[in-house]
Amino acid sequence: MSTKNSIQVLRMFQKYCLARREHRPGSGLFFWCLSLVPYLVPSLVFLLLSGFTFSACAAELAAGVARVDLTPPLEMKAALGGYGERMSRPAEGVHDRIFAKATVLSDGQRRFALLTADILGFPPGFKPALLERLAGGDWAAEQILLLPSHSHTSIEMNAIHPRNLFGNKQIGQFDKKLFEWTLDRCAKVISEAASTRVPVSIGTSGQTIDGWNRNRRQRGGITDRGLTVTRIDRLSGKPLAVWVNFTAHPTFMSAAEMLFSAGWPGHLQRRLEALIGREVTVMYYNGAEGDQAPVGRSGAGESRWEAAEQYGTELAKVAHAQWSTTSTGYDILFDFGLQPIDLPANRWHADFMKTGGDEYGLSEKLLEKMLPLLFPRQTTSGSLRLGDLLIVGVPGELQAALGLEIKTRAQKFSAARHPAIGGLANEWISYILSAEQYQRGGYEASVSFYGPTLGQSIVEGALAGVEKLKK
Ligand SMILES: [Zn+2]
Repeated sequence: MSTKNSIQVLRMFQKYCLARREHRPGSGLFFWCLSLVPYLVPSLVFLLLSGFTFSACAAELAAGVARVDLTPPLEMKAALGGYGERMSRPAEGVHDRIFAKATVLSDGQRRFALLTADILGFPPGFKPALLERLAGGDWAAEQILLLPSHSHTSIEMNAIHPRNLFGNKQIGQFDKKLFEWTLDRCAKVISEAASTRVPVSIGTSGQTIDGWNRNRRQRGGITDRGLTVTRIDRLSGKPLAVWVNFTAHPTFMSAAEMLFSAGWPGHLQRRLEALIGREVTVMYYNGAEGDQAPVGRSGAGESRWEAAEQYGTELAKVAHAQWSTTSTGYDILFDFGLQPIDLPANRWHADFMKTGGDEYGLSEKLLEKMLPLLFPRQTTSGSLRLGDLLIVGVPGELQAALGLEIKTRAQKFSAARHPAIGGLANEWISYILSAEQYQRGGYEASVSFYGPTLGQSIVEGALAGVEKLKK
């Protein structure tokens, strides 16, 4: 009798207990306890005979979750990010609150933190500062994966870029107070999640859903329709956390909407938490969303706020149905890594002045100075293997076709049933396109700062990282 089977017997018993409690709420504690005896005795005898000990759980995975409110107080006058034309104006209020959430996983030897945040992106320099803030907690860069939702009504990314000291309102201005505030909260959520770990069972499922996203660069172009749901339950069966991956820009709101909001991913998380109940924490991460736009639901109402709400809440229903049928296991593969990737030389696209340059108010002269300061020479791809789930992090806004290429190739040599792209992982280095799409030009190409070979560098680098993970 293996430990795994013993735990499964225990879990069946716990599930039975919960079911009895739920189905007979008015029958009184005494009779409820009495009704369990015929099941409890044989279960305990069986577990004892099979050599089950509670210390056996130490070899299984444990997880802790936490959340912090990341909405900057209005008196901080934090710039609202997402569109250059907002000219770094501060948010005028709060439509719905934005959060940072963390799950910390541990197998008793090593631990790993996944942090998601309702935020546009993390600039280069943020994660190293976070590691410093966590100093003393024994965290290394490969143990942390930051995944922002890419909300366009949230903290301005360049306002928390410590090297962005150019005073350009269109790209955002460094705001030290806001930087420290965001950093503190992200450190806090990781530390809190790390301090509350319980043994868990974990499972992932995936499906493709039609009509929820479209390729915004090419009508009828490639879309990534994958919806990936990861279920993390306590041994009692009580849900602890759910991770949801779906690929689309949170861009229902335009530059005219000036309130903090987590956009449709915020509604997705809130509604799914309500549907599952039992204090579960839902965490959303985006995919290769570089050219993916959301497709609004019909009858969503007049305002952009309503469109975002309807999209998020309806997607939550789809995710809930999927979550309900997701099975979990105990003895699962757990590995992670961080692959360094050398980047091609910095350059800007010929279209830059027509599109991105116009939006961001930049001249070529200024760019020559800015690019080496704002964009790194080397980046990373962080990845996580968790049973059937494989998250491959990409440090920016990857074109969906390249995301699908990574998924297909990674699945072949890792045998992970559910590969997912973690978009904008750890840091935002720009849009990431294939050479063909880069040459084609347009908005995304003009906000891509490493030339036509960037896409291939990231794909090969990310896959090299996956190859090093345990299979
Ligand atoms: Zn974007």
